[in-house]
Amino acid sequence: MTNDAATLEETTVTSCARPATPEDVALKGRIQELKDQWGNKLVILAHHYQRKEVVPFGDFVGDSYYLSKMAAQQDDAEHIVFCGVHFMAESARILCRPDQRVYLPNLRAGCPMADMVNDDQVDDAWDWLAEFMDMSKIIPVSYMNSAASLKAFCGANGGVICTSSNAEKAFKWAFERGEKLFFFPDEHLGTNTANQLGIPRDERVIFDPLNPPEDPEPFKKAKVLLWKGYCHVHTNFTAAHVDQVREQYPGVKVVVHPECKEEVVDKADAVGSTAFITQYVDEQPPGSIIAIGTEINLTARMADEYPDKTIFELSGQNCPLCVNMFRTTLGDLAECLEDLGKKNEIFVPDNIARDARKALERMLELG
Ligand code: SF4
Repeated sequence: MTNDAATLEETTVTSCARPATPEDVALKGRIQELKDQWGNKLVILAHHYQRKEVVPFGDFVGDSYYLSKMAAQQDDAEHIVFCGVHFMAESARILCRPDQRVYLPNLRAGCPMADMVNDDQVDDAWDWLAEFMDMSKIIPVSYMNSAASLKAFCGANGGVICTSSNAEKAFKWAFERGEKLFFFPDEHLGTNTANQLGIPRDERVIFDPLNPPEDPEPFKKAKVLLWKGYCHVHTNFTAAHVDQVREQYPGVKVVVHPECKEEVVDKADAVGSTAFITQYVDEQPPGSIIAIGTEINLTARMADEYPDKTIFELSGQNCPLCVNMFRTTLGDLAECLEDLGKKNEIFVPDNIARDARKALERMLELG
């Protein structure tokens, strides 16, 4: 690799977005009109990974921890529109008042990682462990990226939810209440958190639901049980990507999300949630070169926002796009606002919401 301007130009992927069309301009005008009409009865929450053209319509823009906190605090809002993926809108539904209504502008926006665990698999795993362990000593901890029913399972079994902002606190919380924790569904966030807390490797074990274990011994010994799930966007980054950018751009800072594999995290200068990454970029001095290991829409937005820094995504030209986050278009948002109260509403059954709320409120208390 060479360090010439042409290569830097190629590497600096600034956006997956296409240029605005006249239709986009009209949609933006309509969305703004509808927002103005609804005033403070409407709140739009936008995740960092949303499309560049959707993000400016967020009354609050952030990571899933921040947005769930905001969802719980919107006293005046009658309608909460979540530009994100399904589990986020579900969490907002659980945390806000029963009379408030929550919408997801594109109902097909799911999360493949959240889908890597289902209720039957969790029940089977729990039953198997109960054959040789005292389950009152195992605390279930689930990443926010999970279905409401798994959150409810955690709430009903003395567990907690965490995000990538507060996973360490959640692990410590769990160890104050039990001897072991079972972390769902992201093996990599769990591994990276265990590394940060200095939990030895021989005290962790992976539970693969597609190939359920038969030998109880590693599970008896482990302090941390990790569900075998992953984010296909973040696991695309490799240690070789870090080596390449360091070779090509001496002095480059590498910051990655904790859903990346541990060998990537080990080689990075910093690791943290999307909120952490945005703050990290902000704090670097002008002229800095920063390679980011997270979803492309956030990286592209920061490249635009900080023209005095060279910002690009870590993998080069792979465009680590979360297609589910990308599903929500200006058209979806406009249609959702146009038909507010008639469609795209998110519901969670009362019994699930009640237990899930316990686990989510414990998360908010962790800070
Ligand atoms: S980036 Fe990964 S974890 Fe986040 S919503 Fe997309 S698939 Fe799920």
